[in-house]
Amino acid sequence: MQNGHIMTNNMIKLSKSSIGEEEKKAVENVLNKEYLGMGSEVEKFENNLSEFFQRPCVCVSSGTAALQLAMEASGIANGDEVLVQSITYVASFQAISATGAKPVACDINPKSITIDLSDAGKRITHKTKAIMPVHYSGGVGDLDEVYDFAKKYNLRVIEDAAHAFGTLYKGKRIGSFGDLVCFSFDGIKNITSGEGGCVVTENTEFLQKLKDTRLLGVEKDTDNRFLSKRSWQFDVKYQGWRYHMSNIMAAIGVEQLKKFPNFAKKRKQLANIYNNELKSFNSLTILENDYDYVVPHIYPVILSQNIDRKLLQIYLRENGVETGIHYQPNHKLTYYKKNIRKLEVTEKIYSKLLTLPLHTELAEKDIIKITNLIKKFPE
Ligand SMILES: *Cc1c(COP(=O)(O)O)cnc(C)c1O
Repeated sequence: MQNGHIMTNNMIKLSKSSIGEEEKKAVENVLNKEYLGMGSEVEKFENNLSEFFQRPCVCVSSGTAALQLAMEASGIANGDEVLVQSITYVASFQAISATGAKPVACDINPKSITIDLSDAGKRITHKTKAIMPVHYSGGVGDLDEVYDFAKKYNLRVIEDAAHAFGTLYKGKRIGSFGDLVCFSFDGIKNITSGEGGCVVTENTEFLQKLKDTRLLGVEKDTDNRFLSKRSWQFDVKYQGWRYHMSNIMAAIGVEQLKKFPNFAKKRKQLANIYNNELKSFNSLTILENDYDYVVPHIYPVILSQNIDRKLLQIYLRENGVETGIHYQPNHKLTYYKKNIRKLEVTEKIYSKLLTLPLHTELAEKDIIKITNLIKKFPE
Protein backbone atom coordinates (compact mmCIF):
# COMPACT_ATOMS: atom_id res chain seq x y z
CA MET A 1 0.00 0.00 0.00
CA GLN A 2 1.17 3.48 -0.81
CA ASN A 3 0.78 6.34 1.61
CA GLY A 4 -1.60 9.23 0.97
CA HIS A 5 0.89 11.62 -0.59
CA ILE A 6 2.42 9.27 -3.11
CA MET A 7 -1.05 8.04 -3.95
CA THR A 8 -2.40 11.41 -5.10
CA ASN A 9 0.71 11.95 -7.19
CA ASN A 10 0.31 8.62 -8.91
CA MET A 11 -3.46 8.79 -9.12
CA ILE A 12 -4.78 7.48 -12.42
CA LYS A 13 -7.13 10.26 -13.44
CA LEU A 14 -10.63 9.58 -14.69
CA SER A 15 -10.19 11.96 -17.61
CA LYS A 16 -7.94 14.78 -18.69
CA SER A 17 -7.17 16.99 -21.65
CA SER A 18 -4.06 16.39 -23.71
CA ILE A 19 -2.32 19.68 -24.46
CA GLY A 20 1.11 19.99 -26.06
CA GLU A 21 3.48 22.68 -27.25
CA GLU A 22 1.47 23.08 -30.48
CA GLU A 23 -1.64 24.36 -28.64
CA LYS A 24 0.47 26.68 -26.46
CA LYS A 25 2.20 28.14 -29.50
CA ALA A 26 -1.13 28.59 -31.32
CA VAL A 27 -2.62 30.50 -28.37
CA GLU A 28 0.50 32.64 -28.15
CA ASN A 29 0.15 33.51 -31.84
CA VAL A 30 -3.41 34.70 -31.30
CA LEU A 31 -2.33 36.74 -28.28
CA ASN A 32 0.48 38.30 -30.29
CA LYS A 33 -1.93 39.32 -33.05
CA GLU A 34 -4.20 40.91 -30.42
CA TYR A 35 -7.41 39.87 -32.17
CA LEU A 36 -8.88 37.69 -29.46
CA GLY A 37 -12.59 37.50 -30.24
CA MET A 38 -14.28 35.76 -33.14
CA GLY A 39 -12.26 36.11 -36.31
CA SER A 40 -10.08 34.26 -38.79
CA GLU A 41 -9.07 31.45 -36.39
CA VAL A 42 -12.72 30.57 -35.90
CA GLU A 43 -13.24 30.60 -39.66
CA LYS A 44 -10.28 28.25 -40.04
CA PHE A 45 -11.51 25.87 -37.34
CA GLU A 46 -14.96 25.82 -38.93
CA ASN A 47 -13.48 25.11 -42.35
CA ASN A 48 -11.33 22.28 -40.99
CA LEU A 49 -14.28 20.80 -39.14
CA SER A 50 -16.46 21.07 -42.25
CA GLU A 51 -13.83 19.13 -44.13
CA PHE A 52 -13.80 16.52 -41.34
CA PHE A 53 -17.60 16.16 -41.39
CA GLN A 54 -17.99 16.82 -45.13
CA ARG A 55 -20.78 19.23 -44.16
CA PRO A 56 -21.05 22.85 -42.98
CA CYS A 57 -20.68 23.59 -39.30
CA VAL A 58 -21.05 26.56 -36.96
CA CYS A 59 -18.80 26.91 -33.91
CA VAL A 60 -20.13 28.26 -30.63
CA SER A 61 -19.01 28.81 -27.04
CA SER A 62 -19.97 25.37 -25.65
CA GLY A 63 -21.71 22.10 -26.41
CA THR A 64 -24.66 23.28 -24.33
CA ALA A 65 -24.91 26.45 -26.47
CA ALA A 66 -24.73 24.26 -29.60
CA LEU A 67 -27.71 22.21 -28.41
CA GLN A 68 -29.75 25.26 -27.43
CA LEU A 69 -29.09 27.14 -30.68
CA ALA A 70 -29.69 24.04 -32.79
CA MET A 71 -33.12 23.60 -31.21
CA GLU A 72 -33.96 27.29 -31.55
CA ALA A 73 -32.81 27.34 -35.20
CA SER A 74 -35.17 24.48 -35.95
CA GLY A 75 -38.09 26.26 -34.30
CA ILE A 76 -38.27 24.58 -30.87
CA ALA A 77 -39.75 27.12 -28.46
CA ASN A 78 -41.82 27.76 -25.40
CA GLY A 79 -44.37 25.06 -24.64
CA ASP A 80 -42.84 22.41 -26.93
CA GLU A 81 -41.66 19.05 -25.67
CA VAL A 82 -38.39 17.29 -26.44
CA LEU A 83 -37.80 13.59 -25.79
CA VAL A 84 -34.45 12.83 -24.16
CA GLN A 85 -33.02 10.05 -22.03
CA SER A 86 -32.86 10.80 -18.33
CA ILE A 87 -29.30 9.47 -18.01
CA THR A 88 -27.26 12.21 -19.65
CA TYR A 89 -25.24 15.21 -18.58
CA VAL A 90 -27.53 17.92 -17.18
CA ALA A 91 -26.41 20.05 -20.17
CA SER A 92 -28.86 18.20 -22.44
CA PHE A 93 -31.75 19.04 -20.10
CA GLN A 94 -30.65 22.62 -19.49
CA ALA A 95 -30.29 23.28 -23.22
CA ILE A 96 -33.86 22.09 -23.78
CA SER A 97 -35.36 24.11 -20.93
CA ALA A 98 -33.34 27.17 -22.03
CA THR A 99 -35.44 27.24 -25.22
CA GLY A 100 -38.62 27.26 -23.15
CA ALA A 101 -39.38 23.68 -24.14
CA LYS A 102 -39.85 20.86 -21.66
CA PRO A 103 -37.39 17.97 -21.54
CA VAL A 104 -39.44 14.77 -21.39
CA ALA A 105 -37.31 12.18 -19.60
CA CYS A 106 -37.26 8.76 -21.29
CA ASP A 107 -35.99 5.35 -20.34
CA ILE A 108 -32.91 3.71 -21.81
CA ASN A 109 -31.78 0.59 -23.57
CA PRO A 110 -29.55 -1.01 -20.90
CA LYS A 111 -27.04 -2.40 -23.42
CA SER A 112 -26.01 0.94 -24.87
CA ILE A 113 -27.52 3.45 -22.39
CA THR A 114 -29.21 5.17 -25.33
CA ILE A 115 -32.86 6.21 -25.58
CA ASP A 116 -35.48 3.43 -25.48
CA LEU A 117 -37.80 4.28 -28.38
CA SER A 118 -40.65 2.08 -27.16
CA ASP A 119 -40.69 4.10 -23.95
CA ALA A 120 -40.26 7.39 -25.84
CA GLY A 121 -43.23 6.45 -28.03
CA LYS A 122 -45.46 6.34 -24.96
CA ARG A 123 -44.50 9.90 -24.07
CA ILE A 124 -45.47 11.50 -27.38
CA THR A 125 -48.08 14.28 -27.11
CA HIS A 126 -49.31 16.95 -29.54
CA LYS A 127 -46.58 19.19 -28.07
CA THR A 128 -43.68 16.84 -28.91
CA LYS A 129 -41.48 18.56 -31.50
CA ALA A 130 -38.10 16.86 -31.27
CA ILE A 131 -36.07 13.94 -30.01
CA MET A 132 -32.55 14.35 -28.66
CA PRO A 133 -30.60 11.08 -28.87
CA VAL A 134 -27.55 11.22 -26.60
CA HIS A 135 -24.57 9.31 -27.99
CA TYR A 136 -23.66 7.95 -24.60
CA SER A 137 -19.94 7.23 -24.13
CA GLY A 138 -19.42 7.58 -27.90
CA GLY A 139 -21.75 4.80 -29.02
CA VAL A 140 -24.98 5.71 -30.79
CA GLY A 141 -27.22 2.65 -30.34
CA ASP A 142 -29.53 2.16 -33.30
CA LEU A 143 -29.49 5.63 -34.79
CA ASP A 144 -31.39 4.60 -37.95
CA GLU A 145 -34.30 3.63 -35.72
CA VAL A 146 -34.21 7.05 -34.06
CA TYR A 147 -34.53 8.67 -37.50
CA ASP A 148 -37.37 6.28 -38.46
CA PHE A 149 -39.14 7.16 -35.21
CA ALA A 150 -38.66 10.90 -35.86
CA LYS A 151 -40.08 10.51 -39.36
CA LYS A 152 -43.09 8.61 -38.07
CA TYR A 153 -43.96 11.31 -35.52
CA ASN A 154 -42.72 14.27 -37.60
CA LEU A 155 -40.01 15.29 -35.11
CA ARG A 156 -36.74 17.14 -35.51
CA VAL A 157 -33.65 15.22 -34.41
CA ILE A 158 -31.06 17.14 -32.40
CA GLU A 159 -28.21 14.72 -31.77
CA ASP A 160 -26.27 15.28 -28.55
CA ALA A 161 -23.01 13.99 -29.99
CA ALA A 162 -20.85 15.52 -27.26
CA HIS A 163 -19.34 12.07 -26.57
CA ALA A 164 -19.18 10.87 -30.16
CA PHE A 165 -16.65 13.02 -31.99
CA GLY A 166 -15.11 10.68 -34.55
CA THR A 167 -17.44 7.72 -34.10
CA LEU A 168 -18.46 5.80 -37.23
CA TYR A 169 -22.00 4.47 -37.63
CA LYS A 170 -22.52 1.99 -40.49
CA GLY A 171 -19.40 3.37 -42.15
CA LYS A 172 -20.43 7.01 -41.82
CA ARG A 173 -18.93 9.52 -39.42
CA ILE A 174 -21.33 10.96 -36.83
CA GLY A 175 -22.05 14.50 -37.99
CA SER A 176 -21.66 13.63 -41.68
CA PHE A 177 -25.40 12.89 -41.89
CA GLY A 178 -28.51 13.61 -39.87
CA ASP A 179 -30.66 16.60 -38.99
CA LEU A 180 -28.75 18.78 -36.47
CA VAL A 181 -25.69 17.24 -34.83
CA CYS A 182 -24.08 18.95 -31.81
CA PHE A 183 -20.57 18.44 -30.46
CA SER A 184 -18.73 19.71 -27.38
CA PHE A 185 -15.08 20.72 -27.22
CA ASP A 186 -14.88 21.19 -23.47
CA GLY A 187 -11.59 20.41 -21.75
CA ILE A 188 -11.95 16.63 -21.52
CA LYS A 189 -13.89 15.76 -24.67
CA ASN A 190 -12.35 13.80 -27.58
CA ILE A 191 -10.92 17.08 -28.85
CA THR A 192 -10.98 20.38 -26.98
CA SER A 193 -10.90 24.08 -27.74
CA GLY A 194 -10.76 24.90 -24.03
CA GLU A 195 -14.50 25.28 -23.99
CA GLY A 196 -16.55 25.26 -27.15
CA GLY A 197 -18.87 23.32 -29.38
CA CYS A 198 -20.37 23.16 -32.85
CA VAL A 199 -23.54 22.38 -34.74
CA VAL A 200 -23.31 20.41 -37.98
CA THR A 201 -26.20 20.55 -40.44
CA GLU A 202 -26.71 21.11 -44.15
CA ASN A 203 -29.94 23.09 -43.79
CA THR A 204 -28.99 26.54 -45.13
CA GLU A 205 -31.77 28.33 -43.28
CA PHE A 206 -30.65 26.77 -39.98
CA LEU A 207 -27.01 27.58 -40.70
CA GLN A 208 -27.75 31.27 -41.25
CA LYS A 209 -29.87 31.38 -38.11
CA LEU A 210 -27.11 29.71 -36.08
CA LYS A 211 -24.55 32.20 -37.32
CA ASP A 212 -26.80 35.12 -36.38
CA THR A 213 -28.07 33.87 -33.02
CA ARG A 214 -24.56 33.14 -31.71
CA LEU A 215 -23.85 36.87 -32.15
CA LEU A 216 -26.90 38.43 -30.46
CA GLY A 217 -28.99 37.97 -33.59
CA VAL A 218 -26.94 40.58 -35.45
CA GLU A 219 -27.65 39.78 -39.09
CA LYS A 220 -24.64 38.52 -41.07
CA ASP A 221 -22.16 39.67 -38.41
CA THR A 222 -20.23 36.42 -38.89
CA ASP A 223 -19.19 37.40 -42.44
CA ASN A 224 -17.83 40.74 -41.20
CA ARG A 225 -15.98 39.29 -38.24
CA PHE A 226 -14.20 36.75 -40.42
CA LEU A 227 -12.82 39.81 -42.27
CA SER A 228 -11.84 41.36 -38.90
CA LYS A 229 -14.69 43.87 -39.28
CA ARG A 230 -17.92 44.49 -37.46
CA SER A 231 -21.47 45.32 -38.41
CA TRP A 232 -22.45 48.88 -37.48
CA GLN A 233 -25.83 48.93 -39.17
CA PHE A 234 -27.90 45.81 -38.98
CA ASP A 235 -31.25 44.26 -38.30
CA VAL A 236 -32.10 41.68 -35.60
CA LYS A 237 -34.84 39.19 -36.34
CA TYR A 238 -34.68 36.77 -33.42
CA GLN A 239 -33.58 36.36 -29.83
CA GLY A 240 -29.83 35.89 -29.92
CA TRP A 241 -27.10 35.13 -27.43
CA ARG A 242 -23.40 35.82 -26.86
CA TYR A 243 -22.50 32.25 -27.76
CA HIS A 244 -19.77 32.74 -30.36
CA MET A 245 -16.34 31.12 -30.19
CA SER A 246 -13.16 33.18 -29.68
CA ASN A 247 -9.97 33.03 -31.75
CA ILE A 248 -8.13 31.80 -28.64
CA MET A 249 -10.43 28.80 -28.38
CA ALA A 250 -10.41 28.06 -32.11
CA ALA A 251 -6.60 28.13 -32.22
CA ILE A 252 -6.52 25.29 -29.67
CA GLY A 253 -9.20 23.43 -31.61
CA VAL A 254 -7.29 23.63 -34.89
CA GLU A 255 -4.25 21.93 -33.30
CA GLN A 256 -6.37 19.32 -31.52
CA LEU A 257 -8.12 18.37 -34.75
CA LYS A 258 -4.72 17.65 -36.34
CA LYS A 259 -3.94 15.29 -33.47
CA PHE A 260 -7.35 13.65 -33.52
CA PRO A 261 -6.39 10.55 -35.58
CA ASN A 262 -3.85 9.65 -32.88
CA PHE A 263 -6.24 10.50 -30.03
CA ALA A 264 -8.93 8.33 -31.60
CA LYS A 265 -6.58 5.40 -32.13
CA LYS A 266 -5.45 5.56 -28.52
CA ARG A 267 -8.94 5.81 -27.05
CA LYS A 268 -10.16 2.87 -29.13
CA GLN A 269 -7.13 0.75 -28.19
CA LEU A 270 -7.58 1.41 -24.47
CA ALA A 271 -11.30 0.61 -24.58
CA ASN A 272 -10.56 -2.62 -26.45
CA ILE A 273 -8.08 -3.60 -23.73
CA TYR A 274 -10.71 -2.92 -21.06
CA ASN A 275 -13.23 -5.00 -23.02
CA ASN A 276 -10.84 -7.92 -23.38
CA GLU A 277 -10.01 -7.88 -19.69
CA LEU A 278 -13.60 -7.47 -18.49
CA LYS A 279 -15.86 -9.19 -21.01
CA SER A 280 -15.90 -12.57 -19.27
CA PHE A 281 -15.80 -11.17 -15.74
CA ASN A 282 -19.27 -11.77 -14.35
CA SER A 283 -19.45 -9.10 -11.64
CA LEU A 284 -20.07 -6.41 -14.22
CA THR A 285 -21.42 -5.85 -17.73
CA ILE A 286 -19.63 -3.89 -20.43
CA LEU A 287 -21.48 -1.75 -22.98
CA GLU A 288 -22.15 -3.26 -26.41
CA ASN A 289 -19.99 -0.66 -28.24
CA ASP A 290 -17.69 -1.92 -30.98
CA TYR A 291 -14.47 0.04 -30.45
CA ASP A 292 -13.27 -0.59 -33.96
CA TYR A 293 -15.84 2.09 -34.93
CA VAL A 294 -16.79 3.89 -31.73
CA VAL A 295 -14.34 6.51 -30.44
CA PRO A 296 -15.09 6.36 -26.71
CA HIS A 297 -15.22 9.52 -24.64
CA ILE A 298 -15.73 7.60 -21.39
CA TYR A 299 -15.56 3.94 -20.39
CA PRO A 300 -18.58 3.09 -18.20
CA VAL A 301 -19.48 -0.39 -16.93
CA ILE A 302 -22.63 -1.66 -15.22
CA LEU A 303 -21.88 -3.39 -11.93
CA SER A 304 -23.86 -6.47 -10.93
CA GLN A 305 -26.42 -6.05 -8.15
CA ASN A 306 -24.20 -7.59 -5.45
CA ILE A 307 -21.36 -5.08 -5.89
CA ASP A 308 -21.52 -1.98 -3.73
CA ARG A 309 -20.49 0.89 -6.02
CA LYS A 310 -19.54 3.22 -3.22
CA LEU A 311 -17.22 0.66 -1.60
CA LEU A 312 -15.67 -0.19 -4.96
CA GLN A 313 -15.02 3.50 -5.63
CA ILE A 314 -13.35 3.94 -2.24
CA TYR A 315 -11.25 0.80 -2.76
CA LEU A 316 -10.14 1.96 -6.21
CA ARG A 317 -9.34 5.45 -4.93
CA GLU A 318 -7.25 3.98 -2.11
CA ASN A 319 -5.35 2.09 -4.78
CA GLY A 320 -4.75 5.18 -6.90
CA VAL A 321 -7.62 4.98 -9.36
CA GLU A 322 -10.14 7.76 -9.81
CA THR A 323 -13.63 6.78 -11.00
CA GLY A 324 -16.80 8.65 -11.94
CA ILE A 325 -20.55 8.30 -12.36
CA HIS A 326 -22.09 9.22 -15.72
CA TYR A 327 -24.77 10.22 -14.84
CA GLN A 328 -27.36 10.57 -12.14
CA PRO A 329 -30.78 10.66 -13.82
CA ASN A 330 -32.00 14.18 -14.53
CA HIS A 331 -35.63 13.39 -13.73
CA LYS A 332 -34.56 13.13 -10.07
CA LEU A 333 -33.32 16.73 -9.99
CA THR A 334 -35.53 19.29 -8.24
CA TYR A 335 -35.86 21.44 -11.37
CA TYR A 336 -36.98 18.55 -13.58
CA LYS A 337 -38.83 16.16 -11.34
CA LYS A 338 -42.39 17.37 -11.98
CA ASN A 339 -44.87 15.10 -13.78
CA ILE A 340 -42.47 12.30 -14.51
CA ARG A 341 -43.62 8.71 -14.70
CA LYS A 342 -41.38 5.94 -13.45
CA LEU A 343 -38.38 5.04 -15.61
CA GLU A 344 -37.85 1.41 -14.74
CA VAL A 345 -34.58 0.56 -16.47
CA THR A 346 -33.04 3.92 -15.63
CA GLU A 347 -33.84 3.50 -11.98
CA LYS A 348 -32.45 -0.01 -11.90
CA ILE A 349 -29.24 0.79 -13.73
CA TYR A 350 -28.12 4.19 -12.57
CA SER A 351 -26.97 3.13 -9.11
CA LYS A 352 -24.77 0.49 -10.77
CA LEU A 353 -23.08 2.67 -13.36
CA LEU A 354 -19.38 3.24 -12.83
CA THR A 355 -16.97 5.01 -15.16
CA LEU A 356 -13.36 3.84 -15.30
CA PRO A 357 -10.44 6.08 -16.32
CA LEU A 358 -10.04 6.84 -20.02
CA HIS A 359 -7.85 9.46 -21.63
CA THR A 360 -5.09 9.55 -24.21
CA GLU A 361 -2.22 9.57 -21.72
CA LEU A 362 -3.06 6.19 -20.18
CA ALA A 363 -1.02 3.13 -21.07
CA GLU A 364 -1.99 -0.53 -21.42
CA LYS A 365 -0.40 -1.24 -18.02
CA ASP A 366 -2.71 1.29 -16.36
CA ILE A 367 -5.76 -0.48 -17.74
CA ILE A 368 -4.42 -3.86 -16.61
CA LYS A 369 -3.78 -2.43 -13.14
CA ILE A 370 -7.35 -1.13 -12.95
CA THR A 371 -9.00 -4.31 -14.21
CA ASN A 372 -6.87 -6.49 -11.90
CA LEU A 373 -7.90 -4.37 -8.93
CA ILE A 374 -11.57 -4.73 -9.87
CA LYS A 375 -11.22 -8.50 -10.26
CA LYS A 376 -9.71 -8.71 -6.77
CA PHE A 377 -12.45 -6.61 -5.17
CA PRO A 378 -14.33 -8.86 -2.73
CA GLU A 379 -18.09 -8.99 -3.42
C1 LIG B 1 -20.07 17.73 -22.39
C2 LIG B 1 -21.49 17.42 -22.68
C3 LIG B 1 -22.42 18.38 -23.12
C4 LIG B 1 -22.19 19.86 -23.10
O1 LIG B 1 -21.04 20.31 -23.56
P1 LIG B 1 -20.32 21.60 -22.91
O2 LIG B 1 -19.34 21.94 -23.95
O3 LIG B 1 -19.73 21.16 -21.61
O4 LIG B 1 -21.36 22.66 -22.72
C5 LIG B 1 -23.67 17.96 -23.49
N1 LIG B 1 -24.04 16.68 -23.40
C6 LIG B 1 -23.20 15.73 -22.95
C7 LIG B 1 -23.67 14.32 -22.91
C8 LIG B 1 -21.91 16.07 -22.55
O5 LIG B 1 -21.09 15.13 -22.07
